[in-house]
Amino acid sequence: MRKFSFETRSIHDGQSPDQITGAVNVPIYQTSTYAQKELGKTYQGYEYSRSENPTRKALEECIASLEGAKYALAFSSGMAAIANILYLLSSSDHVIVSDDVYGGTYRLFSKIFTKFKLEFDFIDISSLESIKAALKRNTKMIWVESPTNPMLKLVDLELISKLAKEFNLISVVDNTFMSPYFQNPLEWGIDIAVHSTTKYLGGHSDIIGGALAAASNSIYEILKFHQKSIGAIPSPFDCFLVLRGIKTLALRMKEHQKNALKIAEFLEKHPEVSRVYYPGLSTHPQYILACRQMKGFGGMISFELREGISAVKNLFKNIKIFTLAESLGGVESLICHPASMTHASLPEDRRLSLGITDGLVRISVGIENIEDLLWDLEQALEKNRIIQKLG
Ligand SMILES: *Cc1c(COP(=O)(O)O)cnc(C)c1O
Repeated sequence: MRKFSFETRSIHDGQSPDQITGAVNVPIYQTSTYAQKELGKTYQGYEYSRSENPTRKALEECIASLEGAKYALAFSSGMAAIANILYLLSSSDHVIVSDDVYGGTYRLFSKIFTKFKLEFDFIDISSLESIKAALKRNTKMIWVESPTNPMLKLVDLELISKLAKEFNLISVVDNTFMSPYFQNPLEWGIDIAVHSTTKYLGGHSDIIGGALAAASNSIYEILKFHQKSIGAIPSPFDCFLVLRGIKTLALRMKEHQKNALKIAEFLEKHPEVSRVYYPGLSTHPQYILACRQMKGFGGMISFELREGISAVKNLFKNIKIFTLAESLGGVESLICHPASMTHASLPEDRRLSLGITDGLVRISVGIENIEDLLWDLEQALEKNRIIQKLG
């Protein structure tokens, strides 16, 4: 049998026409419970929607297929998916975490799971030596993001998975920034890939959701047990919306990337901009790794304005198409200020040591017309230059 391409799988996997009505799209099974034919005999194995629901199952099968996994599970948010994975651990276990993980992940680990005597070391994951130095007898998990937010640093996933196997750790990659279209961590031997489906998978900034894909049956069985026991499941309607988003994931990701590359190149040449962080630029320090490990470079760019916070404020005031907002991965372009928005909860010295200066701006490049987006950035940065000159 032919192995179908990503585009075909994203539209069909888990989503064959409804057996009874022939409905082409998976219905929204808005039900909490399921009739049983007789005692102990269900129709198709469904008993109660916290455990299983057909709309959710379709989404889970589709995500598993796109991540090249046997199994996937859907959750009510990215954070819920992340928390469910942490319950694989027991108190006194130790986790190595990359030092610039998503702020919500940092908060969950450092403020909540430490109460249950889990230990975390947030370290610079870029060198194997620093990871090895952080290993302890009780280290059970390694948690990374690649590329990171907002500095777009990469981690060599193959190295991480080899190290995890050598030291018997569970390896987890938060794959939200790349989506399964541009990166499949399980291909590199990683145990679990996790997503905020709120972002690219949903793709329209209209739901909060999460998912994970697991390589091994034993890990999946435990996580499925967590999913129904903890209960942070997505609604059937939200599952429907994510499934609907996924149908155009390939199309969208290609456009996000095409636009992002042009914008990154534009910003790199702009006199108001001192640095651009985008893994698709050949000037990115890990460009070679990006080409090897990812199938594309995504739609996230960070850049630094030479004149710092005053220039940032002017840019936000004058920009027309980009919306000032947190989040990412939707069809619309968003712009944000990591230092005061997504990363405001970090202590200042930590924030600065990660490179998140007051002049740093992050954009999630949408799929609007590229000429319009370039015009917008150009005109807003130009106003800035005039203001600086007058000032
Ligand atoms: C948004 C995000 C999360 C959290 O997901 P929610 O859906 O907001 O709970 C986790 N990791 C990354 C990289 C994210 O961007």
